[in-house]
Order: sequence, then C-alpha cells, then structure tokens
Amino acid sequence: ELMQGPSGREENIFVSVRLRPLNEKEIVRNDVSEWECINDDTVIYRNNLTVSERSMYPTAYTFDRVFRSDCSTRQVYEEGAKEVALLVVSGINASIFAYGQTSSGKTYTMSGITDYTVADIYDYMEKFSAMEIYNESVRDLLSADNTPLRLLDDPERGTIVEKLTEATLKDWNHFKELLSVCETQRQIGETFLNEASSRSHQILRLTIESSAREFLRNDKSSSLSATVNFVDLAGSERASQSLSAGARLKEGCHINRSLLTLGTVIRKLSKGRNGHVPFRDSKLTRILQSSLGGNARTAIICTMSPARSHVEQSRNTLLFASCAK
Ligand code: ADP
Ligand code: MG
Repeated sequence: ELMQGPSGREENIFVSVRLRPLNEKEIVRNDVSEWECINDDTVIYRNNLTVSERSMYPTAYTFDRVFRSDCSTRQVYEEGAKEVALLVVSGINASIFAYGQTSSGKTYTMSGITDYTVADIYDYMEKFSAMEIYNESVRDLLSADNTPLRLLDDPERGTIVEKLTEATLKDWNHFKELLSVCETQRQIGETFLNEASSRSHQILRLTIESSAREFLRNDKSSSLSATVNFVDLAGSERASQSLSAGARLKEGCHINRSLLTLGTVIRKLSKGRNGHVPFRDSKLTRILQSSLGGNARTAIICTMSPARSHVEQSRNTLLFASCAK
C-alpha cells in the first residue's frame, strides 16, 4: 500500500516549534517562562511588551504545529516528523531538521526522532551513513580517518560525498553500535575544537534501495534509491551573530556559511520554486540538494527555550521558522 504524503498540503515544508521546559540553570537563576502554546499551532509571548517593542515584534506566531514543553519526543515525532520521514519507503527523499540555539533541545529531539524512524522502517532499512560539517569541511562520522571528504557531482545521483562510509545495517544493535561510533567520532573532533558541537552540523542518513520496496509492485526502476536525512544543525546563534556583524566578527566569531545558506534555500523553496536557489553555496545545501528541492519533503522542528533570558534568540528562531512557512 502506498504511503500518503502529508494530507491536503501543497507545501513541501512542514514547520513546527518545540518548547522545552526551563532547565536547572534557568530555574536556579529565577529565570521565568515567557512563551506559551495557546493551542496546537500558535505560540505566544506573554510578557507585557513596551509600546515600542509591540510595534517591532509580533506576540503570536502560527505554524503547522507547536509542541508545549510537556510534549514527549514520541509526540513530536508522530505529529511533526513521521509522515515526512516515512516517505523514504515510497522512494521519496526527505530531510528532517532540528533548528535552534545551543541548548534549546536540538540533539535531544533529533536523536529521539532518528530512533523512532529507524524502529518504524526497520524492515526496509539498508544503509546508514553519518557525517559532520564543520567550517565547511565534511568528515565521516563512521570512520576514524579525519581527512575531509570531497563532494563530487555525479550526473545521475547528483552531489555525492566521496569515500563516505555506507554501513549495511544488520539489526537494531548494529544501528546502536553505529550511533555510538558517531558519538565517539564527534567527541574526538570536539577535543580539538572548542565548542565544536554548537558550530557543526550532523547529518545521519538512511538509504533504502528500491529492491527493498517490493511492496511497490508497479515500481519497475531497479537502481532508484531514496534517502532520509536527520540533520542536527549548528546552534542558530551562529547565524544571527553574523547578521549583527561588526563587533562580533572582530571577536573572531565564524560566519556559519552552511547555516546561512540553508536559511536562504529554505526561504526560496517555501516561496515556490521560482528563480535561483543557491544550493551550491554551501556544503550542507549541496549534500542535501536532492533531499530538499524537487519532490523531496522537508520537516523542520525549531526548538526553543521558554526563558526570558533567551527571548532574543527565541525570536530569531521563530523568525526563521516563519520564513520557512
Ligand atoms: P542542543 O542540541 O540544542 O544544544 P540539547 O538537545 O543538548 O540542546 O539539550 C540541552 C539539554 O536540555 C540537554 O541536557 C537535554 O537533555 C535537555 N532537554 C532538551 N530538550 C528537552 C525536553 N524537551 N525535555 C527535557 N529535557 C530537554
Ligand atoms: Mg546539540
């Protein structure tokens, strides 16, 4: 039976926002929660704004779905990612992103979603690969070799990552082992690079060959494969910092080219695919091109802290999310 795409929707990008609970640190410093989901699709800022602030910032933001801080990752998966992720078994490429400032819950959310997806498509799973993009340099997270990987243009398959390990998945334990290899490789990278995890993008990729899609009886193509990408993005403060330029650039903060280009690409795609989409401007968007444009489906989960102290970053996150709609 053919899997249905997101029902009744024409847009290819599903955007949701997930609030996390206040954390220990925030509670200890008497930080307060100022954002609230008033229903399934709208989050509001409920602190009293000054008149000038009110003219600058909206107080209510509406998306495809918003998740309150007491929602489980299971629920975020079921209602914010599953439909898109499972399209891979129908031969449709997909990307699921976690976007948000550092410590807003990207990794927490994305690792759960990856697990749930793998559990759901367990019988179709075939290949698994994992990579990290740091400073526009691509690294294989399944290999101890840290040599940067090159991107090549293949006339049929599009951009491919040369020499990227493609592990053939044996079973659930094997999947878990591979995830721990990734984790180790990521940590090895971080011992050399301060704060690497907030500056790097992690892409976990599952590939399903059409030969495994026997249930699609009228699918005659034999070489077609589809991939679903789980993308744990660099902290979004890396994008906004470069927007406010000047002072911070002098402090040595790096513009995160991949994050900025992703924003531009997503904005262009969400406005309908007219005109030039600058996929080739960054490593991240080049690698994901075939899973972003065209018939591919995308889900973006924007994670945010509800704390007053993070209001500026939270607004930036909601602005990004609004532009993706
Ligand atoms: P990021 O990857 O965006 O930097 P993390 O996912 O590492 O953030 O989350 C930061 C901390 O907050 C972690 O300790 C994580 O377990 C916790 N956390 C994040 N989201 C939630 C949530 N929805 N519920 C409970 N704890 C969360
Ligand atoms: Mg993280």
